Amino acid sequence: METTNWIGGEWVKPGGQQRDVMNPSNLSEKVGTIHFSDETDIIEAEAAAKEAYRKWSSMPGAKRGDVLYEMAAVLEKNMTDIAELASSEMGKPITEMKGEVLRGVQLLRYYASEGVRSQGNLVPSSDVNVLQYTKRVPLGVVGLITPWNFPVAIPIWKIAPALISGNTILWKPAEPASLTAFRLGELFAETSLPEGVVNIIIGKGRDVGNALLEKTEINAVSFTGSTSTGQRVASICAARNIKYQTEMGGKNAAIVLRDADFQKAASMVVSGAFRSAGQKCTATSRIIVEKEAYEPFVEALKAEMEAVKVNHALDMNAYMGPVASKSQFDSVSEYLSVAKKEAELVIEKEIEQGNVNGYFVNPMVVTGIGPDHKLVQEEVFGPLAVILTAEDFEEAISLANQTVYGLSASIFTQDLSKAHRFLEEADAGMVRVNQETAGVEYQAPFGGMKMSSSHTREQGQAALDFYTTLKTCSIKHTF
Ligand code: NAD
Repeated sequence: METTNWIGGEWVKPGGQQRDVMNPSNLSEKVGTIHFSDETDIIEAEAAAKEAYRKWSSMPGAKRGDVLYEMAAVLEKNMTDIAELASSEMGKPITEMKGEVLRGVQLLRYYASEGVRSQGNLVPSSDVNVLQYTKRVPLGVVGLITPWNFPVAIPIWKIAPALISGNTILWKPAEPASLTAFRLGELFAETSLPEGVVNIIIGKGRDVGNALLEKTEINAVSFTGSTSTGQRVASICAARNIKYQTEMGGKNAAIVLRDADFQKAASMVVSGAFRSAGQKCTATSRIIVEKEAYEPFVEALKAEMEAVKVNHALDMNAYMGPVASKSQFDSVSEYLSVAKKEAELVIEKEIEQGNVNGYFVNPMVVTGIGPDHKLVQEEVFGPLAVILTAEDFEEAISLANQTVYGLSASIFTQDLSKAHRFLEEADAGMVRVNQETAGVEYQAPFGGMKMSSSHTREQGQAALDFYTTLKTCSIKHTF
């Protein structure tokens, strides 16, 4: 497979550099070739999106919804094909990847139905003979910049609400998910989506991403990725006074209290920490255990680690695949070696035999370091979890909040009063009781507090707030 851009309904191969994509589960296997775009491609795509905007935004919502239903159907029909491609490109285990594609289908259907839902409110006027109401209107051409770790679901949770609201799109996917993005474009091209409504420009962040922000007249940007890039995106958009949302990193805590069901808590902590090789923004990376619970919880955790098979991403038994890329491998390996040198090992799981020619790393749980240690404060974005102990519930909450991030947090307890206090006092956008930190439902708002987000939300009804602006309309009907 070779990528081309999708601009104005045409497939255009950019003239820039190219790079072969090797399977992170088996570095001898070539999956495809990426052709990188430059600034001229983004300018061309902007013209196509502007051209398509008038027609798309004036189409009835129900008709736009019909297009989204078609997109859902074609994605569902090709679920296995696109899941296998994504697993081969960025290493997510196939069972998880199929679930992610299904999530994309659900998101498209959820937002398709918004085409016929209420778009505003009747606001009583203080004057006589005046009809006053609000209505949502689209923003125009929207730039979407996405990460590689959810190569299907994250793009769709931006594309679907942007489209149903009447916007047209310039989408710049992450480099390590370019083949999957191209294939999604091919599938969407099979529907009646009008040309120029969705444009895909494959390229590097510093070239195409930067040109999207600096060189176009887009009306809004939705970004998901690292906090450092997100801060840059935010400052450029703020200077240009265009609407933006940035969903960024996390350092998510799971608290285990002494009255928790240790076996169930361990199972969810392990899943939160190690599924997708810890490469989720909502991954559990700090486990805060009440002192009295330490021994029984760690025993349950070690038993639960038996389930963690580190294997080729296309192996149905893989609990964890490789990390996604060489740069991920280097950065995660560096953190794991610091953990081995500076912390006390609780458990390390070896990769399955035969998996030597990929970006595999051993998942690890460590303890014995203080709350200021870099492994407790920095986002590792890999399969490493640190256990901290707390004297009691109060100290556990205080440790959980001791981070610049605020994406998700969870607590395991049977105590209703402590569960409620946690939901009130934990500084995170998504707070969960007796559930893992990772995991989100498409109909519920998603996003973080503190350095994890620009404080907007994605998914659910909240996404429609971002992709529209409100107009207040007033008619004096008897004059
Ligand atoms: P990244 O910041 O390196 O890249 C994200 C996107 O930004 C990519 O498309 C990249 O090409 C682009 N980009 C890079 N430099 C740019 C520039 N100068 N101008 C414009 N665009 C640029 O992040 P990543 O490595 O792809 O993803 C991992 C990060 O994403 C982690 O920090 C993770 O926590 C975060 N993440 C957050 C969420 C969330 O919803 N909060 C979800 C998934 C991932």
